Amino acid sequence: MDLRYSEDAEKYRAHITSLLGSTLPEGWHGLGALDPGERGTFLREWRNVLLEHRLLAPHWPTEHGGGGLSNSERAVLNEEFTKAGVPLMLTDNDASGFQLLGNIVLALGTPEQKSHFLPRVISGEHLWCQGFSEPGAGSDLASVATRAVREGDEWVINGQKIWTSAGHLANWMFALVRTDTEAPKHRGLTFLLIPMDQPGIEVRPISQINGNPEFNEVFFTDARTSAENVIGEVNGGWGVAMMTLGFERGENATAMALRFQAEFDRLVDLVNSRGRGDDPQVRARLARCYTRLQVVRLLAMRSLTTFLSGEPPGPEAAIVKLYWSEYWQSVSALAVDVLGAEAIAPTVQRPPSADGPDLHGAPNDSGSWVGTYLNAFASTIYTGTSEIQRNIIAERVLGLPK
Ligand SMILES: Cc1cc2nc3c(=O)[nH]c(=O)nc-3n(C[C@H](O)[C@H](O)[C@H](O)COP(=O)(O)OP(=O)(O)OC[C@H]3O[C@@H](n4cnc5c(N)ncnc54)[C@H](O)[C@@H]3O)c2cc1C
Repeated sequence: MDLRYSEDAEKYRAHITSLLGSTLPEGWHGLGALDPGERGTFLREWRNVLLEHRLLAPHWPTEHGGGGLSNSERAVLNEEFTKAGVPLMLTDNDASGFQLLGNIVLALGTPEQKSHFLPRVISGEHLWCQGFSEPGAGSDLASVATRAVREGDEWVINGQKIWTSAGHLANWMFALVRTDTEAPKHRGLTFLLIPMDQPGIEVRPISQINGNPEFNEVFFTDARTSAENVIGEVNGGWGVAMMTLGFERGENATAMALRFQAEFDRLVDLVNSRGRGDDPQVRARLARCYTRLQVVRLLAMRSLTTFLSGEPPGPEAAIVKLYWSEYWQSVSALAVDVLGAEAIAPTVQRPPSADGPDLHGAPNDSGSWVGTYLNAFASTIYTGTSEIQRNIIAERVLGLPK
């Protein structure tokens, strides 16, 4: 594992830090420091900055409106944005649109699909969500039962999806649907792009433990999409879905470790400000969190090394996911214990930061920590539960029997 970046990547870092210095407002403390109104205004302006510098889709090729960055430049960009507390993904649908849908269309889309869908992700006209999970198909994704039947030049879709993040804000869904009920379960699936804005689709938000309707149930009753909206082969959707999930790659790993480090520093401040710095139990738990944080950082570097060498994500991706998600639960539980009774009635409700610690600038108050604590529950479920990650590690790293 080589812990240094290439000279070119370091030049790019200097370019990005100077860009951030010249574009961010004076006295900038990070997005987390803004109240919800200021946040909306900043994000609208920030979108224009990213557009102007071709950073909205930094990893897409330039001919499709992307920044054409190399893998190491992407990793550096993620790190510098994280340190500055500014996001690359500006809306709740952007991760699905830029990372998942965008990458799969780039990899397997027809020229027509590329020229139709990619510019609309960049312009924001299409807001995407991911329709994989169903009540009977989560970890066992191959059990998907939502059906699509070909009628003329359209697919007619019936069934239900669940846990669709930001589905209530989306106008397009990429979904895994069953197109052959006779075939073995991995072979009868198709990866379909479905417009959400039609009478055959009903979206019902589900309230989460933190009170936010982040995800949804989606019901299809004779919903329709054009026959052209298949990615890859009809009945070849399993491979397409697996490739799509593989796009949640290692370029973000070290940036996430930086966010955890900043969060840990806030926790130390919280402990001191609440007069708990002398408490031996709190000190022992803090020390344990710190050592685990170093493991997260080193695992992230290993994951980045695989990514930079151009290899597909290996089993180390399962180790990183398992480790950071469980670390995050223990660190936020410590914060809540330090807050004591105040955690039961937090000062203010904060906007959630769904997939990791708050951005820089987040206030060090009970509202922020309780929001983090509640979000951390989901981290050992989404993108593969801890049990599933342990199965992957057992089978593929340790070579244990299935
Ligand atoms: C915040 C959040 C956002 C999400 N967003 C989306 C989204 O946008 N789109 C989407 O399609 N899905 C989304 N999901 C769904 C997510 O992918 C599933 O929740 C996840 O895959 C687990 O599936 P499940 O909930 O059906 O649980 P199940 O698969 O029913 O599992 C239930 C329990 O059994 C365990 N288990 C299952 N199989 C095994 C096994 N073989 N060995 C050992 N233990 C096992 C699991 O680990 C778990 O503890 C989201 C989930 C969350 C929490």
